Amino acid sequence: MYVISSCLLGRDCKYNGGNNRNQAVLDFCREHSFCEVCPETAGGLTAPRAPAERQGDRICDRDGKDVTEAFVQGAQKSWDHVLAEARRRCEEVEGAILKAKSPSCGCGMIYDGSFTGTLIPGDGCFTAILKEHGIKVNTEKEI
Ligand code: SF4
Repeated sequence: MYVISSCLLGRDCKYNGGNNRNQAVLDFCREHSFCEVCPETAGGLTAPRAPAERQGDRICDRDGKDVTEAFVQGAQKSWDHVLAEARRRCEEVEGAILKAKSPSCGCGMIYDGSFTGTLIPGDGCFTAILKEHGIKVNTEKEI
């Protein structure tokens, strides 16, 4: 079973109320068992919402509101959901395809907190949990 960012499947859970529908991801999911998650929605954030970026050890939105708690809770709830699904299906978690650059789902590079589109090395908070558990994470740009 693979873990997939919901917005890549066309769900309108992105901060601006839209999605990041990706045909290659959809094609991949046609041939593989998958479990979709949106950690920010799981954390109680609405769509649309103000965009947020990591600023040091916190995550803040463009209006300056600290949304760290929602991101951390959403990441943990999403991981719990993935484990429950894997158990229910009697499957291993084989890997993940997550949305690049996101403060939740980004892998390897994320936005730097300046809201200028600048990237720095780092992982989103959900991605960090998956990596801690030894799960290989790719972004939609790597399939
Ligand atoms: S990048 Fe992750 S948290 Fe953001 S909308 Fe997509 S699935 Fe949700």
